[in-house]
Amino acid sequence: MKTRVNRRTFLKTSAGAAATFGALTRARSANANGRLLIVDNGEAAAVVVTAGNPRPVAEYAAMELAGHVEKISGVRLPVAREPEIPEGYATRLFIGMTNAAHEMGIDADALKPEEFVMRSAGSDLYIVGAEDDANPLNPRNSKCGTLFGVYELLEQFGVRWLWPGELGTFTPSADTLVIDAVDESIAPRLAFREIAWGRLRSAAIQQDEPSLSEAEEILGFSRNGLVRYGHDLQDYLRRHRMGGMDRKPPTAHRFSGWWEEYGEEHPEWFMMHEDGTRGRPEGWSARHMPICVSNPALHQHLVDELWDGQRPIRLGEVDAKYVCQCEACRAWDGPQDESPPWFAAGFWEPTMASDRYARFWKTIQAMAEARNPGTLVTTYMYYNYFPAPAGEITLNENIYGEFVQWGFAPGHRGEGSLRGGTRGDSPVNFFPMPEEAFEWLKQQWLGWHNTGMRIGYRPNYLHDGWVMPLVSIRQAAEFFQYAVEHGMEGARFDSLTGQWAAHGPKLYVHMRLLAKPELSVEKILDEYYEAFGPAADAVRDYFEYWEAYCIENAERFCELFLDVGMRWQRFPLKGHEAFPPESFEPAEEILERAVQAAAEDPAPEYAARVDFLRKGLEHARLAGRLAAAFDGQRDIPEDTEKFEKALEALRRLVEFRRAHEDLYISDYFYGASWREAGRWNLAPLFARL
Ligand SMILES: [Zn+2]
Repeated sequence: MKTRVNRRTFLKTSAGAAATFGALTRARSANANGRLLIVDNGEAAAVVVTAGNPRPVAEYAAMELAGHVEKISGVRLPVAREPEIPEGYATRLFIGMTNAAHEMGIDADALKPEEFVMRSAGSDLYIVGAEDDANPLNPRNSKCGTLFGVYELLEQFGVRWLWPGELGTFTPSADTLVIDAVDESIAPRLAFREIAWGRLRSAAIQQDEPSLSEAEEILGFSRNGLVRYGHDLQDYLRRHRMGGMDRKPPTAHRFSGWWEEYGEEHPEWFMMHEDGTRGRPEGWSARHMPICVSNPALHQHLVDELWDGQRPIRLGEVDAKYVCQCEACRAWDGPQDESPPWFAAGFWEPTMASDRYARFWKTIQAMAEARNPGTLVTTYMYYNYFPAPAGEITLNENIYGEFVQWGFAPGHRGEGSLRGGTRGDSPVNFFPMPEEAFEWLKQQWLGWHNTGMRIGYRPNYLHDGWVMPLVSIRQAAEFFQYAVEHGMEGARFDSLTGQWAAHGPKLYVHMRLLAKPELSVEKILDEYYEAFGPAADAVRDYFEYWEAYCIENAERFCELFLDVGMRWQRFPLKGHEAFPPESFEPAEEILERAVQAAAEDPAPEYAARVDFLRKGLEHARLAGRLAAAFDGQRDIPEDTEKFEKALEALRRLVEFRRAHEDLYISDYFYGASWREAGRWNLAPLFARL
């Protein structure tokens, strides 16, 4: 992405834009050279123009532009089609491929995926990307440059999309809007950008009648609320330029299901256990049998039998920890660290196998290279092959891997604590993490990058925290930027749990860094907090309180889940212990200050946004009460005091969610009810609601 050297618009992002605007209006009349007037003292000064028969992306982009300008200025710009352009407007804003853009010599088809040209000429502005007839909101549609150009312009106007929906859209208010002369083309710096939300997208957008569980019906959104949230979220994510997914190299747990297919005929293709046997032990999922990566017959089968000679070869191992213990595989291993760091020791149990897997990928890539030069081999860095290789192996640009920070705490089968005990999540799975783990994590990225391979980022930590205020900003952002500086091509996060109030700035920082990784985190946070007007400082204190709390408790959070594991999914079991009622008290006091500060400004939006945060906190408190009633159990015996307590907590939570579903403080569907229903037997309580 090009770095802009001059600011193109007069608008300030700060809430105190009104005072600035008087001065700016004077500046415009004193200097009209090359500047395009959009809104002039509360009057429309520009007309938005599309092609006579606009493509969906241009039509949608024009609507987004006019809608946001109206939110800023109260003025609705007319939208016209070529050649019927109304007279009497100082400026014409040509959106998408038009005859006028063509005559200007703008060749949209020569642009890169997702790229746009923004060019002023005389009193006209052109925003043009390549287009086709695909849905402009589809993240696999890279012919979206025109839309991204409009968002770039709106960002220059000071528009900020803090969370989905109306209240989360911050626009400065101004009765005059001007754009400086401009000529640039911009494409996203990262090739692909996504925070996955497939389950919600499917239920809210893709299915006509989603089949919801009883818990999703009762504890989730209403059906209308779900559809509305899904569409608002889809808009929101595109405004943050999520996309490029058609360019993400394809990856997969390729060997899932192989045991079922080949296990009988070729048991030697699958892992050997420590006792020298192969085969599926009792209790081991048949779908998830790791392979024997050094087996040459398996290599041949992969390349000679299964590969079409064209497509990338996907080599992601099954979605399970453990690796083959045969002599040949172990001979491919690098030196084993006898005393790995406590927070990462699980990666060495029983064997740290990164060198071995790297050699496997390289072997397959070389075989494919002989048949079709340049063939891409794709994989994951995950579980026992997550740490950077310890040996000297080099890879190349025809090997692409996704860095999945994921593993287990040490002591796969043992007893004890995080620092040498039972199986739980590794501290490097989640942010925040102990500082020494954070430094180690960066070294692993660097180590893989230095092999010469291509890397994408594929973390799971945004799954974490359920509806609780689990806030980590600095470490997550610092790691992201470190990875971008060291070769990150794109990122796909798993998954968006949509806790817009409880996790507010954490989510906003991720959205902004995906779109523009070069932005400073401080600047991004300023954008977020400024949308709270006079309450900005108090809101900053509020989230800093939670981040400090989470850093202080990072290791305790891991300890809490040692016996249950999979904390991303099972957070409701221990949510009340991770965030006990006393941790809420200082937070509530800070928010009380924010309420008072927001009241200083007559504009109701600041108070409304602070209220949004308060409701998010109240929601976490109510959910925490239900968690406390279950207290880590799946069932509560009926006719007990506990049961009545749980019933009361459930009633209040359900009432609250129904009363506040339009605000989007929380994704009640995927972020909340799906997790809750998976952990608690709610049916007896529902029967009594
Ligand atoms: Zn083996």
